[in-house]
Amino acid sequence: MHDQAQTALVDRFGRKVTYVRLSVTDRCDFRCVYCMSEDMEFLPRQQVMTLEEIARIARIFTELGVEKIRLTGGEPLVRRDILSLVQDIGALGLKDFAITTNGSQLPRFAQELKAAGLKRLNISLDSLDPEKFRRITRTGNLQQVLDGIDAAIDAGFKGIKINSVIMKGRNEEEVPELVDFVRQKGLDISFIEEMPLGDISDHSRDETFCSSDEVRSIIESHHELMPCTADTGGPSRYYRMSDSDSRIGFISPHTHNFCGSCNRVRMTVEGRLLLCLGNEHSKDLRGLLRRHPTDDEPIRQAIISAMDLKPERHHFTTDGDVQIVRFMNMTGG
Ligand code: SAM
Ligand code: SF4
Repeated sequence: MHDQAQTALVDRFGRKVTYVRLSVTDRCDFRCVYCMSEDMEFLPRQQVMTLEEIARIARIFTELGVEKIRLTGGEPLVRRDILSLVQDIGALGLKDFAITTNGSQLPRFAQELKAAGLKRLNISLDSLDPEKFRRITRTGNLQQVLDGIDAAIDAGFKGIKINSVIMKGRNEEEVPELVDFVRQKGLDISFIEEMPLGDISDHSRDETFCSSDEVRSIIESHHELMPCTADTGGPSRYYRMSDSDSRIGFISPHTHNFCGSCNRVRMTVEGRLLLCLGNEHSKDLRGLLRRHPTDDEPIRQAIISAMDLKPERHHFTTDGDVQIVRFMNMTGG
């Protein structure tokens, strides 16, 4: 599917870039232990891209051949006036337009997001136990997120996907319950290996690291998993069960490197175009946008030439070394 894409964005390794993740805020109402430190400092407002600037970048990427945009953060739904941005991007006619959210604001926003043209939702949920959920998110309320998931289903979203980061000693034993939950609700789920982004205080990542193979074998003691061939254009490898429509995905940056088929770039909330999640290669777009408020050409050229900076692959290790100092909320998950 992606090889046929008409895009001006091709890197040195022949990979076509058709998917952009835009971080719309570094702020969040949660402080998940793997994503943030407890006392995070957030960016001053003038360093953050305005919603108009983000909408302009989304349009330029679409004109260059991008087919899929995902809004992320931080928590995208805590950014003021986020619905106006969703409307602007929803009007671009993308093949796919998605948000990754912690779900806490979905009880009030799900219907409006659907009406504004959002096509898909990924909702993060690492535990179904209220206390463990609180322990992992530090500030989150499980019931609010469960209500958010129901609100998204009621609003008519299809293909809702749950994202779960699995950590040893924290939520590993909940894998079967999380699978049962998505089966009951008719959702998909991706299990994510924790990545070494940012210097966190809560735990040592080498002690909590739980590989996708371990998670898969936990599931396989309850359900037979059959590999799916469908390419969703993301980093998940998917499996099916014979008695359910729910798909189970694994995002395994450590153990099953997905860089060879990478079709993605990211833009941080400061307008830094990141060519790879696990490397610092980047290009400042915010400065260019502000210097050229009406002429898109310099920005188009900068994006096209930045493709040459895309590295071949990331090199994460599990030994607890922090290789990337950016936290995930800055990067845009
Ligand atoms: N706040 C939204 C949410 O939680 O879904 C969107 C942003 S969050 C950074 C995006 C995804 O990244 C979430 O599914 C989260 O669990 C995941 N994430 C955050 N830090 C991570 C890390 N160090 N390793 C792996 N996944 C991480
Ligand atoms: Fe917030 Fe999402 Fe990071 Fe959790 S993972 S702290 S919800 S940005």
